[in-house]
Amino acid sequence: MWARADRAYNRAVVSGKVDTKPWEVTQPLSRRDRMRAEVLARTPWWYSEWVHLGFPSLFGLSFIAGALLMLHDVRWYEWLAVPTILALLNVNEWHIHRNILHRRSWPLEVLFWRHTPEHHVIFVRDDMAMRSTREFRLVLIPAYGIVAIFVTSLPLTAALWFFVSHNVAAFFVACSMGYTVSYEWLHLAYHLPAANPIARNRVIGWLRHQHAVHHTPELMQRWNFNVTVPFGDWLLGTTYRGPLPS
Ligand SMILES: [Zn+2]
Ligand SMILES: [Zn+2]
Repeated sequence: MWARADRAYNRAVVSGKVDTKPWEVTQPLSRRDRMRAEVLARTPWWYSEWVHLGFPSLFGLSFIAGALLMLHDVRWYEWLAVPTILALLNVNEWHIHRNILHRRSWPLEVLFWRHTPEHHVIFVRDDMAMRSTREFRLVLIPAYGIVAIFVTSLPLTAALWFFVSHNVAAFFVACSMGYTVSYEWLHLAYHLPAANPIARNRVIGWLRHQHAVHHTPELMQRWNFNVTVPFGDWLLGTTYRGPLPS
């Protein structure tokens, strides 16, 4: 049923006002290099790639620790909230990637511009690797992103706290922060040079392949939208299984 709903949705999107066609072909290396240089030239003087990587991780890990410390006398049915929340976060990741990062959506157009015409033009399936740590900026979400995710989900956290249970609210904070940090680390791992020991890990290698398929310009608007675990793609029928365009 989901797959059918998704196909109908795909048709609606394709027949609508999608303006991504110019980016749905692999650009020649010279053009990708020019784009890379242009984007990197816009890096502000105060930018530090290590702060960009470290701050969201520290923020996320601190909130996970704080939330777990608040757990008290957890009932068996409260534990069930954990897989449920993680599954919902995964489908949410699918939705945000597909409908906000790949389609201009007010008021978050900036996310589209950073993703579809930049991240996807610079990194293509057979050229996924960052060339230096300065390129963390081309892969990671802005450092304030994790703070924005925490703040915008506060109404939901509060609703769980007051109407469900304190433990479920604490699980939600720990899961959403853990999910965001995992997204960042995994996405960065997929864009490491292939010889890097992290990239050579079997599990990372499999996940990296799923993401590399999404980095095929001809496929990016329709397939493999999960960046972490491809559960949402499986559920919604968007796992690409066909031959890869050369
Ligand atoms: Zn990517
Ligand atoms: Zn994408």
